[in-house]
Amino acid sequence: MSFDALGLSASLAHAASTRGFGEPTPIQAAAIPAVLQGRDVLGIAQTGSGKTAAFGLPLLQMLQDARGRYPQEAPLRLRGLVLVPTRELAVQVGDVLRGLAHGLPHRTKIVVAVGGVSANPQMMALRGGADLLVATPGRLLDLLEQKALRLDAVVTLVLDEADRLLDLGFAEELQRILALLPAVRQNLFFSATFPKEVDALAAALLREPLRVEIVPAPGSAPAIVQRAIQVDASRRTQLLRHLAKQEGWGRALVFVATKYAAETVADKLYKNGVFATAFHGDLSQGARSQVLAELKAERWDLVVTTDLAARGIDIAQLPVVVNYDLPRSAVDYVHRIGRTGRAGENGLAVSFVSAETEAHFRLIEKRQGQPVPREQVAGFEPGEVALPSAPEGAGPRDPAAPGNGGVKGKRPSKKDKLRAAAAASSGADGDSDEPAKDDSADDGGYAPSAERSARNAR
Ligand code: AMP
Repeated sequence: MSFDALGLSASLAHAASTRGFGEPTPIQAAAIPAVLQGRDVLGIAQTGSGKTAAFGLPLLQMLQDARGRYPQEAPLRLRGLVLVPTRELAVQVGDVLRGLAHGLPHRTKIVVAVGGVSANPQMMALRGGADLLVATPGRLLDLLEQKALRLDAVVTLVLDEADRLLDLGFAEELQRILALLPAVRQNLFFSATFPKEVDALAAALLREPLRVEIVPAPGSAPAIVQRAIQVDASRRTQLLRHLAKQEGWGRALVFVATKYAAETVADKLYKNGVFATAFHGDLSQGARSQVLAELKAERWDLVVTTDLAARGIDIAQLPVVVNYDLPRSAVDYVHRIGRTGRAGENGLAVSFVSAETEAHFRLIEKRQGQPVPREQVAGFEPGEVALPSAPEGAGPRDPAAPGNGGVKGKRPSKKDKLRAAAAASSGADGDSDEPAKDDSADDGGYAPSAERSARNAR
């Protein structure tokens, strides 16, 4: 099937092909015609399956048509609003949309607005209006307070990583934004996961939506091979080094539970000769962008990150994702491992499981409906004894809980307690994309150590 068969104009179909998109992916084939008809869509498809273009192409077509109808419009009225949960994702989505818009008959003005950097250039960019804004909710509200834009002409609202934006962390900000949007509008919600908890909220916002759910055909080879390696928590860093070297991983994204762990694990690896660095919400926005760009440019072998990098970030040909600490939930697991195996490539997801995190991993396996065989690596066989099982619901959010970087198999030492206190004061693992953290100015929590500042990528 071709893109023009979906109802896209020749220029947009051409834009897709110049991006190297040969044929529409299943989510694109299913969603694009409905979006073009003006319908609300709830699109659920695997990570890396082309969701950005699934809403981006028809959205750009709508904007092109509006530009054609109102060629003299000044200032431009904001007709499209795309909300995303993290700054990095906003920049990425903005880049994809600008790439697709390049060379279209009518110029489309796309502005990206994110926190952590000065608002002035964004306010300047919004002068004279814009066709499309890609924003994180916190910065959008700041800009609205500054009267830098209005939302009363928005025709289409997109929530990318919709379940994240609809969950409690963003509830208040989202409600404030929704109140400023026209009541009658097109709503497009996209995500790889859509837990039941947010279903009711979505149902209240969507108007007779087309629900598009793309599930891989049963028996189709999984793009992401999942492995679970049993290892004592205290030996994970060594095992990581060993595997990266023995198996020739090249690049890998290593997920940990806290910003503190991201720093300490990256430091340990770097001191041991691995090109490793940390990525988390307490780095300055400049440092965050730099690490991501350097990872994409293959200048780091291992980037140790919090859940900040779990959603949406598209790193082409990232071969490996490691769960050094297990994620809190099966939903987070799906997003984390989805950083590899994108756009039909193969990927490897390795999870480290200790005696103490075994029960939690079983829960993740059950929820994702796929068992993952346990392995052991010679020389790293686990030997530590598990503590009595943690109370129900104690996940890695609790600094003293399994999988959160504490030393397993013994009572926490003074050092462990200090570490846990530091992790707690840094916001522990709430680093994925909580609005207050992602959109507020950096508060200097975990600045990189002097050594890390001096650390250089390859
Ligand atoms: P997304 O899920 O939107 O982040 O896209 C994941 C990756 O798939 C990106 O690298 C896109 O460039 C790529 N992609 C999107 N649509 C297509 C397509 N129709 N054909 C080939 N690659 C695509």
